[in-house]
Amino acid sequence: MTPPSTDPTVPVGDTVTAETRRAELARRLAAVRERIAAACAAAGRDPDEVSLLAVTKTVPAHDVALLVDLGLDAFGENRVQEAMAKVAEVAALRPAARIRWHLVGRLQRNKARAAVQWAHRVESVDSTRLADALDRAVRRALDEGRRAGPLSVLVQYSVDGDPNRGGAPDGVIDKLADHVATLPGLRLDGVMAVAPLHADPERAFAAIAAAAARIRSAHPDAAILSAGMSGDLEVAIRYGSHVVRVGTALVGERPIASP
Ligand SMILES: *Cc1c(COP(=O)(O)O)cnc(C)c1O
Repeated sequence: MTPPSTDPTVPVGDTVTAETRRAELARRLAAVRERIAAACAAAGRDPDEVSLLAVTKTVPAHDVALLVDLGLDAFGENRVQEAMAKVAEVAALRPAARIRWHLVGRLQRNKARAAVQWAHRVESVDSTRLADALDRAVRRALDEGRRAGPLSVLVQYSVDGDPNRGGAPDGVIDKLADHVATLPGLRLDGVMAVAPLHADPERAFAAIAAAAARIRSAHPDAAILSAGMSGDLEVAIRYGSHVVRVGTALVGERPIASP
């Protein structure tokens, strides 16, 4: 047996832990990629049409760095403050990586300026007031030379109008999309949705696909549908999703979120 390293720069326990975690993440990522490939094959879709957004809320920066090493380059966060710190930490851990960060959670208008500092895309735009706040923040950053172009946004669709999950329901989302399309600081790239937990997934994803198709017909460049998570990515892919946002299946169970 090799004795443990006595080199003080190599923390033996940390190395073992990181290797174990890397192996676990590699195994989970392979399983998720297999599910996506199988769902695309079953739906007769080209797997290149579906991208994986790793949702890393509550996940430490070290895990994100390991996922970068495994080839992922797009990460989703749902809290502005947590994400700001993590974006900086991951940049320090993997300075050469080109990473895209998406905000997928509810955003308060007073956090719009902070979100615009790190988010490459905000997927959770669900009101004209929030869109206006983001537009103002982007234009200010453009004026001050802190960014080069508009912010990519998705409008979030609500299947059932439940205010807790966020999103704009039928009858509201189309006008919201029309409004976003007029704002110079924002680029309307499509629609995001979270299927309600206890709803029939077929009906939920059919409604999501219909809303996305309507918005795409009014705004042909708004072509992206971000739908599907760990539990329902197969149905989402069958109904045309281009982005599956996967947390639990990739990184394991999250601790219970604090209120
Ligand atoms: C947490 C979260 C996800 C990922 O959910 P999992 O079930 O862990 O895969 C996707 N989208 C949004 C908006 C989320 O908040």
